[in-house]
Amino acid sequence: MAWHVATVVAVRDETPVARTIVLDVPSWPGHLAGQHVDLRLTAEDGYSTQRGYSLAAPANGHRIELTVQRVEDGEVSPHLTRVVEVGDVFELRGPIGGWFVWRPEDTAPVLLLAGGSGIVPLMAMIRARRSPVPFRLLYSVRRPADRFYVDELRNPPPGVDVTYVYTRNPPEDWPRPPERLNATDLATAGWPADLTPDCFVCGPTGFVEAAADLLVGLGHDPSRIRTERFGTGGD
Ligand SMILES: Cc1cc2nc3c(=O)[nH]c(=O)nc-3n(C[C@H](O)[C@H](O)[C@H](O)COP(=O)(O)OP(=O)(O)OC[C@H]3O[C@@H](n4cnc5c(N)ncnc54)[C@H](O)[C@@H]3O)c2cc1C
Repeated sequence: MAWHVATVVAVRDETPVARTIVLDVPSWPGHLAGQHVDLRLTAEDGYSTQRGYSLAAPANGHRIELTVQRVEDGEVSPHLTRVVEVGDVFELRGPIGGWFVWRPEDTAPVLLLAGGSGIVPLMAMIRARRSPVPFRLLYSVRRPADRFYVDELRNPPPGVDVTYVYTRNPPEDWPRPPERLNATDLATAGWPADLTPDCFVCGPTGFVEAAADLLVGLGHDPSRIRTERFGTGGD
């Protein structure tokens, strides 16, 4: 797969530790919601390293968006969230992934389960939606300040329901105690298994495994549960 040259055309802070990077990629072939890229950074001394990042939105012409959350002791994400500025150039390869994708022509109800930065490819699915297909998003974060895309998710399109799950510090008067996503959350804010929804689960490995187990326990067909693991760490 060929490497593309990508130029940073805008950056936007989502939280104090997460940033959306808008890239212009003249040779971009287009992509589906849920796919990701490999992004390669090369230092002046020739050292180079690469990481996977999900595409956060449908392509806008040659423009694509990534949202990166800083892992404080990480090698790449501190650079992308602190140092990168408009005009910087990277290489990227993609789009990658053919299973963890949602197509606008799909008609089944959609259940999205996001843990932390796992919201990124799920947001691309919400942004790619063009029909009345009903979506339900359960978005697990430690505290309100960790939420990405706050304004957009405050007023989601009709037919897209958004439920937050706070695992550490909920807002004042929040009715649910702070704890990890559980079967009651899924039973009340998800879709019943007999509607045979397409389920997409994304986030840190521990979140993804626990959430997928809960779905199976509630009777969801494992063949309709698609997962994407971002790595260790987080809730
Ligand atoms: C398919 C795919 C898509 C991804 N999409 C996104 C995305 O859209 N946004 C995004 O922010 N990240 C995404 N990631 C994670 C990303 O690839 C990097 O792992 C992350 O940015 C950390 O890289 P780093 O170089 O800063 O840390 P590293 O130097 O690789 O790791 C440093 C330390 O952090 C731990 N660590 C590594 N990854 C994570 C993590 N994700 N969370 C917490 N701790 C971690 C490691 O165990 C290690 O201890 C994705 C990963 C995959 C596989």
